[in-house]
Amino acid sequence: MTTISRLWALDAPTVTMDDSIMMFGKGGTEITMPLPSFLIEHPVHGLLIFDTGIGGAGDPASVYGPAAQVYKMNFPAEYALDRQLESLGFTTSDVKRVVISHLHFDHTGGLHHFPGATGYIGSGEMRYAKTPDHHVAVHFMPPDLEAAAQIDWLELPVGYDHDVFGDGSVVILTLPGHTPGSLALQLRLPDASTLILSGDVAHDHDNVSCCAGMQADSDTAAAVESLKRLKLLRSRPDTTVWVNHDIADWERMRANGRQVI
Ligand SMILES: [Zn+2]
Repeated sequence: MTTISRLWALDAPTVTMDDSIMMFGKGGTEITMPLPSFLIEHPVHGLLIFDTGIGGAGDPASVYGPAAQVYKMNFPAEYALDRQLESLGFTTSDVKRVVISHLHFDHTGGLHHFPGATGYIGSGEMRYAKTPDHHVAVHFMPPDLEAAAQIDWLELPVGYDHDVFGDGSVVILTLPGHTPGSLALQLRLPDASTLILSGDVAHDHDNVSCCAGMQADSDTAAAVESLKRLKLLRSRPDTTVWVNHDIADWERMRANGRQVI
């Protein structure tokens, strides 16, 4: 049985905002949430990155303008993906594969580090990002989409889960609804347990427990179906679901620092 060999949850920039963004029915509590990138090492095929956070390390306002202050973006220069990879003994060109959970700006800011990589993206995601519904247009960054054009994308049809290496160690799950092409990543760990990095299919565990989505979802009904699927996966005895913007998950799973496995 092949498993991944190592997993890092890289030091992540944060934003601070009202929690009404997380789920219908929430609001009134200020939260500071991480904008993660995960580095995964396969024993034979090397490095894969899942999501790339925001851009503008050291000066987020240079990329996002006034929004950097509105959302209290905190992104120290040393958290830049290229600098973190170097500190781990790698370079950005060692990362041969990029999986993007979806194209909202808090996941695409580092795509420019990986020109020439093979990318994995959900069906319809790129088209939606370029011509989004009006109420979510602010969530997409045209310069990031230009950087994305340098990546060789493979598109996952809705309803098809892709076993990246054909050995069960890394499987991309299609879970549409937050956006048309929303994806999660299922990893088999060295102890034979399963870890699911849920991207933005959920924003905290309450989304999963209640099967309730959020304002920014492109398709509320589809989002609820995907949350039902995630809730079933979470109920498996050998499976952990890491909700990537969930603050408690972030603190618990990174209790020993950025190298998780
Ligand atoms: Zn997000």
